Amino acid sequence: MKKLLIMLLIASIGAVSCNKETCENPFYCDWDTPFEVPPFDLIKFEHFKPAYLKGMEEQMAEVNTIINNTEEPTFDNTIRAMQFTGQLLEKVQRAMGPLSGANTNDSIQALQRDMSPLFSKHRDDISLNEKLFERVKSVYENRDKFNLTPEESKLLEDEYLGFIRSGIGLSPEDKDKLRQLNSEQSLLSLKFGQNLLAETNGFTLVIDNEQDLSGLPEGVRAQAAAAAKAKDMEGKWLFTLQNPSYIPFMTYADNRELREKIFRGYMMRGNNGNENDNNQILADIIRLRVEKAKLLGYESHADYVLERNMAKEPETVLNFLAQIWEAALPVAKAEAAAQQELIDREGGKFKLEPWDWFYYTEKIRKEKYDLSDEETKPYFSAKNVTDGMFYVANRLYGLEFSERNDIPLYHPDVKTFEVKRAGKHVGILMIDYHPRASKRGGAWCSGIRPQRLDEKGKFVTPLVSMVTNFTPPSGDTPSLLTPDEASTLFHEFGHALHNLLSNTEYTSGVSRDFVELPSQIMEHWVFEPEVLKVYAKHYQTGDVIPDALIEKIEKAGKFNAGFTTVEYLAASSLDMEYHSLTEPTEINIGEFEKNAMDKYGLIKEIIPRYRSTYFNHIIGGYSAGYYSYIWCEQLDADAFKAFKETGDIFNSEVAARFENEILARKGSKDELEMWIAFRGREPGIEALLENRGFLNK
Ligand SMILES: [Zn+2]
Repeated sequence: MKKLLIMLLIASIGAVSCNKETCENPFYCDWDTPFEVPPFDLIKFEHFKPAYLKGMEEQMAEVNTIINNTEEPTFDNTIRAMQFTGQLLEKVQRAMGPLSGANTNDSIQALQRDMSPLFSKHRDDISLNEKLFERVKSVYENRDKFNLTPEESKLLEDEYLGFIRSGIGLSPEDKDKLRQLNSEQSLLSLKFGQNLLAETNGFTLVIDNEQDLSGLPEGVRAQAAAAAKAKDMEGKWLFTLQNPSYIPFMTYADNRELREKIFRGYMMRGNNGNENDNNQILADIIRLRVEKAKLLGYESHADYVLERNMAKEPETVLNFLAQIWEAALPVAKAEAAAQQELIDREGGKFKLEPWDWFYYTEKIRKEKYDLSDEETKPYFSAKNVTDGMFYVANRLYGLEFSERNDIPLYHPDVKTFEVKRAGKHVGILMIDYHPRASKRGGAWCSGIRPQRLDEKGKFVTPLVSMVTNFTPPSGDTPSLLTPDEASTLFHEFGHALHNLLSNTEYTSGVSRDFVELPSQIMEHWVFEPEVLKVYAKHYQTGDVIPDALIEKIEKAGKFNAGFTTVEYLAASSLDMEYHSLTEPTEINIGEFEKNAMDKYGLIKEIIPRYRSTYFNHIIGGYSAGYYSYIWCEQLDADAFKAFKETGDIFNSEVAARFENEILARKGSKDELEMWIAFRGREPGIEALLENRGFLNK
C-alpha cells in the first residue's frame, strides 16, 4: 500500500484561492514565491497543525466524492481522480519535510508524534477502504476498455496490487488473522531494535593501563579519554561498540587480546542468552512473515517482497549473489593469505582470526599505498566538488546551475540553485552541507515537490533538496571533503538528477533495487582523471591534483574488496535464505546461520557484515532486500560501461538514452524494460566484477 500512500501525500500543487482573512495561514493561500517554493519565511509553527487537520478532512471529502460517484468506474473518474486528492495536505508536507529532517526542534518533534496516529488512521481510511477498492478493482478488470497509455497501465496495476497486498481481498476471518500477524510482528520488531540498542550500549571496554593503547592514533585516545571522563572514570579510556569507537580500535590497537575482547562483544550482540536475547524474536518474526505471505497467496516472504522489485523472484537474486560470491571468495582468501604472510614475517606465531583482519589490512594498506585523507583533502573543497558535479551534469545533460539568493530558505545555511537547460527553467536544487543540532545525521536527497502534470495538464517543475553532514569551514579553511564525502556528494546529486530530469504524467515510487542506479552511477565520474582535472584544485594554490595522487586514489579504492564483498554477500545471502522459507517452521537461529554460511563456504576469518541477532536491516525495510545495494551496483557499473565503451565518458548519445529511458521515466515503467531500452540487453555482472577488481587477477 506504500505506493498509494505516497501518491496520496504527493498530490499536485494547485492554486488554493482564499480571502485575506484565511490568508493568515500561508497554507491556505497561493504561494507567490519564485517557483512556488514554500514561503518558509512566512510559515510559523502554529500554522502546521490546523492545516494538517483541514488537509486530511479535505482529502477524505475528495475521496468520498470519488466513491459516491454514481457513474461507472473509469480510469479518469477513479485512478486519475485519486492522484489529485489531498493537495492541501501535500502542501503542508512540502514545508514540513525539510524542517523535520534538517531544521527540527522539540515542538516540531512533538507535533509529529501527535500527528502520527492521526496520519496512520487517515491512510488506513483510504487504503483499506472497501468501497474505493471496489471501484479500483472494476477499473482493473475492465482495463482493456480504457485505452490507457503505458504509464496509466502501470499506475493502475500498482494501485490495484497495493490494495491486494494490504489484504483487502481476504475473508473477514483472514483479515483478522492478518491484523493479528501485523501487530505481533510490529511488537517483535520494536523489541528487536530495543534489545540491540541495549546490547550495543551494554558493552564497554575500559582501559586503565596506557600501554594497552599502543598503536592507537592520538585523536582516538583523546576521544576514549573524554568518553571515560563523561562516565566519571577520569584518567581511563573507554571504548564502545559504536562504529566511531569500535572501528579505530579494531584497526589500530596492537593489543591482540583486547581486539578479540571487543570483537566478541560486537559479534555476540543479541546472542548472550540474557533478557536482551534476539534469537527467539527473530525466529518468531521469520515464522510470522511466512504465515503472512501464505495468507496473501505467496510462496514465501521473499516472493511477496520481490514482486514489487526489479529482480521479481528469489531465484534470480540467489543466482546473482552466488555468481559474485564465486568471484569474490578467492580474492578474500588471497587477502587472508597476504595477512598471514605478514603475521609470519613479523614472527607472530598464530593463525589469522576475524579480530585481526582490520588491523593487518591497515598495515598492508599503509605499506602499499600510504594514502591519507590529509593528503587529498586540500584538493576537495566542498565548493570545488560541487563545481565538479555541476560540470558533469552539464557535459552529460546540458544542465546549467546558477545560485539564487531570492528564494525562501528553511535554514540560512542552505544554498539554492536554479537549474536551466537551453535557457529554460528545469527546477530548483537546494544543498545543505554542514551538520547542526537541528539536523539528523547522514546524507539524503528528497523531492520536496516532485515533477508531474497538474490537474489541467500543466508541467509542474521539481523542487529538490540535498542534505549532507560534511565538515564545516573553520577560520580561513573552507570545508574540505574526504574522498568518501566527495563520492557521497556525487551520489546524492545523482538522486537529485533523477528528480530534476523526471518527465512523467503522474508521480510514482521507484523500486528499492533500482533507485540507487541513478545515484551510484554518478560516483563513477567523481574520480575519473578527466573530471578530477577540472575540479580537484588545491584550495590555497589553485594547483590541479597531481597524477600520482590520482593513481593512488584509484588503486586504494579497490583494496580489500574481497573482504568487503564477501562480508556483505554473506549477510545478503543470509537474509535471502531466511526469507525464502516456504513453511512457517520453528528455526534455531544459530544453527540456521551456521548451516547457511557453511553451505556458501564462508571462511572462518570473516563473519557476515551483520550476524542474525543484530541484523537490523532485515527487521526494518530491507527484509529480502539487503541485496539491493549490489544489485544496483551491477546496473550502475554496466551503465557506466556503456559510456566507457564509446571511448568518451560524456558520450552524448549514451547520456541522452540514459536520460530518456531511465531518469525521465522515474517509476512509470517496469524497471527491466527501462533497462533494456537503455542498454539493448539484460544487465550483466562483468562490469561490477571489473569495478571491484575481480577480473584479470
Ligand atoms: Zn542513495
